[in-house]
Amino acid sequence: MTRLWNEPADFADEMIDGFVAANGRYVRRVPGGVVRSTASPAGQVAVVIGGGSGHYPAFGGLVGPGLAHGAAMGNLFASPSTQQVFSVAKAADNGGGVFFSYGNYAGDVLNFDAAQERLRAEGTACETVTVTDDIFSATVDEKHKRRGIAGDLTVFRIAGAAAASGADLAEVTRLAQHANERTRSFGVAFTGCTLPGADDPLFTVPEGRMAIGLGIHGEPGIDETGIPTADGLAELLVEKLLAEVPDGVDAVRGARVVPILNGLGSLKYEEMFVVYRRIAQLLADAGIDIVDPHVGEYCTSFDMAGTSLTLFWLDDVLESLWETPVDTPAYRRGSVAPQERSDAAATADVADVIEPGDEASRAAAATVLAAVRTIAETVDAHVGELGRLDAIAGDGDHGIGMQRGSHAALAAAETAVDAGAGARTTLARAADAWADKAGGTSGALWGVILNAIAAKLGDEGSPDAAAVAAGVAAGSRGVTDYGKAEVGDKTLVDALVPFTSTLTQAVDAGARLTDAWRTAADAATRAADATADLLPRMGRARAHGQNSVGTPDPGAISLALIVTAVGELLTARKSPKENAHA
Ligand code: ADP
Ligand code: MG
Repeated sequence: MTRLWNEPADFADEMIDGFVAANGRYVRRVPGGVVRSTASPAGQVAVVIGGGSGHYPAFGGLVGPGLAHGAAMGNLFASPSTQQVFSVAKAADNGGGVFFSYGNYAGDVLNFDAAQERLRAEGTACETVTVTDDIFSATVDEKHKRRGIAGDLTVFRIAGAAAASGADLAEVTRLAQHANERTRSFGVAFTGCTLPGADDPLFTVPEGRMAIGLGIHGEPGIDETGIPTADGLAELLVEKLLAEVPDGVDAVRGARVVPILNGLGSLKYEEMFVVYRRIAQLLADAGIDIVDPHVGEYCTSFDMAGTSLTLFWLDDVLESLWETPVDTPAYRRGSVAPQERSDAAATADVADVIEPGDEASRAAAATVLAAVRTIAETVDAHVGELGRLDAIAGDGDHGIGMQRGSHAALAAAETAVDAGAGARTTLARAADAWADKAGGTSGALWGVILNAIAAKLGDEGSPDAAAVAAGVAAGSRGVTDYGKAEVGDKTLVDALVPFTSTLTQAVDAGARLTDAWRTAADAATRAADATADLLPRMGRARAHGQNSVGTPDPGAISLALIVTAVGELLTARKSPKENAHA
């Protein structure tokens, strides 16, 4: 249970303000998160980490000498927006390139990748290693799909240590990749977590039961059992992790391993020590040399009760990097020499630099702006109806949330076009503004959709129908990865998926974008109407599902209205009359 907040919507922002006020020795605030307040040598690779808020000390608490140079800090459990990541990276850059690392979650990948593309486009070298330590989130054959949990710490530390030693971007990347390969974690949870202002936990674990393999945002566990004894839990954790020793570790006996027993938010240190007592015995029994054990909170999940064990399998290179001193708000190791302060003025206002697009892309940006304006007008015309639909099983804010988001998007797109931005930058700015201002689930998802389309439009040349269709398809994948809803769950996915498949098929068959779009919009409208018959299984509406049978899903309806209106706009802009005037 979270007890203290002012406005729930301001919680993450106010938390960052207070965090910076308390830790000015280490960090200073920049748009999108924090960077070190101490100076870094020119040319040093900048290690930029990040993710949603609610995981303290990840991610802002890990910024400082020997570790990260900056952290992009999103809303609670929500990926930072592309703009946030971009702006933090710009502020952190020391001229040696930017190394990104974060837990492997779809929303984070989408936004960090888009920021990385933007930085590369303006000539900053960037590389990324996503952390994939959670052995229960995918099989070993699909290791790259695993999500990141407390193993973030080992990868971040190796990257930070390599950067501090003067390694170049390629070497930092190689070492961080190697650390990720040698990091394995496994977690359990006893309760869910409740975000500020929410009436119910995000998920629940039945009283007296334990979810096995549960993620740090309540992603489903793979199994559930009764809660074992402390020793029983230690045995389970060690057994599972010793069953998956990383490639390259020749023998368990004699291996040197850093164990990290991580608390997820409301587990007592005392309980963890009792568990660790048995873990240490079991590792010693297996012949493992324990190096620098960690018991504490390194990556939490708000107020969730649970724990995870990480084993980091050292080799000589990793072990010597592990000895690098670190001094950050939440994590200290060894002793770091006194640091000079950085010159903050030099990096102020980086968020507001807009790179101009070429002529063709600026023309496409004008269409993007017109489309965003159409979206805002469409939402305005239906705001009451969308609110009423949402009130039946949800919280009644879908109309006003969409209005706040689309108008913020319109203002951002206008500013971008005035500054000469191309299509990608214009739509990406609009997407970020939407996600930042809308609040609610649908706002984050619209940010995902528009950012994915933006990434395919580019800032050079005129995007073709295939690029638009590919962008919509990427957005649709982003939404299902991020929101975890499937077709039939009674969400906007029910309209988005048929819209995407119809659009892709028509474009692949050679249709013009305007025709393909209108056919797809009709499919979305039919599918949105058909959600009336469904029972909601996702989002807020789930709890009051029965009430909504007979009423369509508000998010699906708003999506259908929007794609229909944008289809009409595209048709009008492509009419021979308009072309003749152009
Ligand atoms: P909130 O539910 O946070 O109040 P809104 O009211 O703006 O947000 O949006 C509600 C809509 O969001 C729902 O009608 C549904 O279409 C969509 N939605 C909710 N959860 C999900 C999800 N997990 N995946 C996709 N869409 C979702
Ligand atoms: Mg709502």
